[in-house]
Parts: sequence; C-alpha cells; structure tokens
Amino acid sequence: MRPEPKTFFEAGLSFECKRCGKCCTGAPGTIYVAPGEIGPIAGFLGLSVSDLIQGYLYPYKNSFSIKEDDRGNCLFYREGCTIYSVRPHQCRTFPFWFRNVRSESLWRDVARQCPGIGHGKRYSKAQIMEIALSTMEI
Ligand code: SF4
Repeated sequence: MRPEPKTFFEAGLSFECKRCGKCCTGAPGTIYVAPGEIGPIAGFLGLSVSDLIQGYLYPYKNSFSIKEDDRGNCLFYREGCTIYSVRPHQCRTFPFWFRNVRSESLWRDVARQCPGIGHGKRYSKAQIMEIALSTMEI
C-alpha cells in the first residue's frame, strides 16, 4: 500500500463559524445547489421548485447556483443565512473545500477572509480529507 501523502494539516485544523457572513457576501461567486438539494430548499421556503428556480437560481454545471444581488451577496443571506438548515453542501463544507486545502498558502488566503479559522473545534486530518474529497466539484 502506498503511504498517504503528507499535508500541511497532519495535526488537524481548527474552525468554528462565527456567523459573520463574509463567505456569503461580498465578491461574486457561485453557490452550487446539487439536484437533490433543490426540493428541500423549496419545501423549506414553501415554494414550488419552479418558483424557487425562477426567483433564486440560475443554471450552473449540471444543476443550479444561487443568485446574488448586485453587491455579490447570496439572495438567501439577510443578517444570517435564511435557509441554514437546508443550505447546500458547498456552504456546509466551507472552509474545508478541496481547493482551499490544496496548499498551506491557499489555506492562509482563506483564513484572511474567514475569522472562524484558527478557532474552536479541531478537525483531524481524516475529517478534513473526507470533507475536502466531497467538494472536488466546488
Ligand atoms: S466567513 Fe467564516 S466565520 Fe464568517 S460566516 Fe463564513 S464560515 Fe463563518
């Protein structure tokens, strides 16, 4: 068996969301909503799937992304996430996205934006790898 490659997070990384909303607002980005996530969000909001798509989503990859306002804020962010319990996998897995943990310098860039990094719960290397590998498409 090949040995696992060494990472910069062998000892794990700490993170606890401060609910500041910085990752939901500001610079424009995409917020991928997987096909299986559309129904639960629509149900949570009491909307039909077609009304959700028309009002809040636009086509992206094999599914949709959430629209943003003209300041780059997620349409579901209003002094906090208004769909928190049904938020997409992309939001649930931040900041441990594959693209953020590929190198220590990328992680440091994310840490400059996210005040939750370096605080709270310590995630093990195995936990981080599992989360990161589930976000290869993000
Ligand atoms: S930027 Fe970090 S601390 Fe702020 S809401 Fe996003 S994940 Fe939480």
